[in-house]
Amino acid sequence: MIPCLTCGAPLEHPTATCAFDVPGERAPWRADYEAMARGEMSHAEHQVLVARWALHNGHLHSERALARLRSIAALSHGQPVRMFKLAGE
Ligand SMILES: [Zn+2]
Repeated sequence: MIPCLTCGAPLEHPTATCAFDVPGERAPWRADYEAMARGEMSHAEHQVLVARWALHNGHLHSERALARLRSIAALSHGQPVRMFKLAGE
């Protein structure tokens, strides 16, 4: 799989839209707190989702925050992560 050039998430195919390239109201980490409460997701996994989403929404974050988020995303570059959906979605 080809990694996204912005966040490093694996893409289904080279021209696919990255799942993390979405606005805040569709942020892929919204269901993570429920998943973590159920014990199905670690905080480290959640941080990867937040970092990847934030790199696609860089205008919402300070340069200092983006530097930290880039380092988190780099640790999982090209690796798939589990994503959860909110109940009812
Ligand atoms: Zn991406």
